[in-house]
Amino acid sequence: MKTIFRNPESFRVWHDRLGHPGLGIMRRIINNSPGHNVETKNFPNPEDFICPACTKGKLITRPSLLKIRDESPVFLARIQGDICGPIQPLSGPFRYFMVLIDASTRWSHVDLLSTRNHAFPKLIAQIIRLKASLPDSCVQFIRMDNAATLIQLRPTAYHSISPLQLVRGKKPSISHLRNPTTTAYFYGTHRKLGIYVGYETLSIIKYLEPMTRDLHTARYADCIFDEDYFPALGGEKHPEKCQDIIWNATGMQSLDPRTSEAELEVQRIINLQNITNKLPDAFTDYKGVTRSHIPAVNVPERVEVTQKDTDSALTPPS
Ligand SMILES: [Zn+2]
Repeated sequence: MKTIFRNPESFRVWHDRLGHPGLGIMRRIINNSPGHNVETKNFPNPEDFICPACTKGKLITRPSLLKIRDESPVFLARIQGDICGPIQPLSGPFRYFMVLIDASTRWSHVDLLSTRNHAFPKLIAQIIRLKASLPDSCVQFIRMDNAATLIQLRPTAYHSISPLQLVRGKKPSISHLRNPTTTAYFYGTHRKLGIYVGYETLSIIKYLEPMTRDLHTARYADCIFDEDYFPALGGEKHPEKCQDIIWNATGMQSLDPRTSEAELEVQRIINLQNITNKLPDAFTDYKGVTRSHIPAVNVPERVEVTQKDTDSALTPPS
């Protein structure tokens, strides 16, 4: 700071006390109220005064144009989802809700869940619904948090292949999976340690910085893993703080364990879908139909109306 104050900290102190006003408002308050030790002639120039709180408050994260051009996918190409809960108080019988958001259009869908066992069946049902109503759009990626990602990789009881393969048609690679909460060492000028907690994409891992506990990402290619070593949060100086996992702890899992209900719900949807696929299009006379991208336009070109119908419509009821 270039400006010299007679009392350099008093301006800052009063700026904080008065709720971070701008210089103009601050000048008016100071000139019109006693009980302070600031003089307006000692005010700093606007360009010389930097308040971290004000700067952060005015900071707006604008979308990166570069990112938008490169990343904006077509409708339904990438759906992001999350399961939230258990919520308190309960919403009727529901303890969880699942949110799906399309990355490009912000189309969103919310499902209420009484148990997390319904999450995957609901997801499949939504994909089938989207496929039926929007045959030209195709769901390519669904990005969930780590638990859901792993569920997608696990074959269900009724299929030898994983849900991911069912949706995408090709085998998902699992070469990037590592034991969670193990060590990741990073190449570089000096070897750095992080606690691996999952991945964002095939080439980006997520790790916790042991000292600060902050979540960061790193390039998979820059890491080597030691999956036998579980580092403690707080760093190596506090190993006594690293507690063993209590396997019979009562957590969310024990409140809502995975049951056969999940598989049964999936099977129910698959059965319904099979029935739907075998049904003939009994209500559609293709000769009289022209297809349009607007659903409402997809009505027969000609509708035969008999003389009797028009007569009865025109005659007022007596
Ligand atoms: Zn401020």
